Amino acid sequence: MALIVGAPHRPVPAATDLPGHHPGADRGAPVDPRALRRVLVVRADNIGDVVMAVPAVRALRVVAPQARIDLLASPAGARVAPMVPEIDGVVETSPSWQQLSAGETGVGAQVAAEWTLLDELRCGGYDALLVFTSSTQSPWPVAHLGLMAGIALRAVHSAEFGGTVATHWVTPPPEGTHQVDRCLHLLAAIGLAPTDPGRTPALDVPPAAQDEADAALAGSGLRSGEPFVALAPGASCASRRYPAERFAVAAAAIAAAGLPVRVTGAETEIGLVAAVAETAGHRDVRVLRPTSVPGFAGVLRRAAVAVTNNSGGMHLADAVGTPLVVTWAGTEPHAAMAPRSVPAALLGRRVPCSPCRLLTCPYDHGCLDVTPARVVAAVLERVGVPLEVPCAR
Ligand code: SF4
Repeated sequence: MALIVGAPHRPVPAATDLPGHHPGADRGAPVDPRALRRVLVVRADNIGDVVMAVPAVRALRVVAPQARIDLLASPAGARVAPMVPEIDGVVETSPSWQQLSAGETGVGAQVAAEWTLLDELRCGGYDALLVFTSSTQSPWPVAHLGLMAGIALRAVHSAEFGGTVATHWVTPPPEGTHQVDRCLHLLAAIGLAPTDPGRTPALDVPPAAQDEADAALAGSGLRSGEPFVALAPGASCASRRYPAERFAVAAAAIAAAGLPVRVTGAETEIGLVAAVAETAGHRDVRVLRPTSVPGFAGVLRRAAVAVTNNSGGMHLADAVGTPLVVTWAGTEPHAAMAPRSVPAALLGRRVPCSPCRLLTCPYDHGCLDVTPARVVAAVLERVGVPLEVPCAR
């Protein structure tokens, strides 16, 4: 069955007026969602990016209920998939276009890995490749792999020329557009979005993962249903991390105000998690170690408030309905990735260098010059505790 129907579609509204519009873009014809059989959705970056793509995956499921939907994801991002029933399978990879260096294994290993990925795409029998990217990422490397694998429909956002690598080369929405809306924009531009798609991320924590989380919470000394604060101090890069010592000061003050704090994170963050809990030095600030990303989400789901950086933990908490206090670095604008499903206090300081999108801060990290007292006040305000903040710093 043909995937593409009708006459070439008109560009997305006002696309030709956008600064990023290339005269070769926006020429693909609308796609018939009923003809889709096997779709590969690409979101190969971090946990939070996959979470923000979930509304688009759900929208795709609405318009193409008959299709198999697979997700191409990084090892971290792939861990989100068990919480999205609309995803049928995962292609897990660490592709060259998402790395900062070839690593210890070198270029030879990268070449081998990419031939393996190409084989997986070929053998997957996909008829459509939908590439979701942020405004600073290029869709072309994976779109080219899709072409080499013989995938008939390849849809991307790009302001840059990519020849005929994509069949649907869509002018991206303006910079600063929320990641959820950016993903949905790509679907809408090629005729694959429902009339009124949901625009808030939501995850279904599987029962086994919730059991794992509840067991970990009980093991940390919490009674069933006892209010607590989940503090997730990690983030994918140093520039987004609030100082561990300041998190520790805030955690001790929150615990002193009567709210137990459980310091938690993904498996890879256990060193930082332990350091924050140890530095806090309060008997009700304890480490909590879920062994999986869904288990981490299950812990966040039980918390009265989650305290995070702009990180995967923030997006997980948002998607499981837990109010947030976020220490927000100036690396990214709020508009592009702020929580959408829950009340959230975004704490930070305006600085002229924001948004910098840097991995480490070359200055004094002024954007995260937020006192622990502000963090504590925001937490206690969210849970309705009087603002007697026993925290001088
Ligand atoms: S202070 Fe400026 S350069 Fe440093 S992380 Fe914040 S926004 Fe980026």
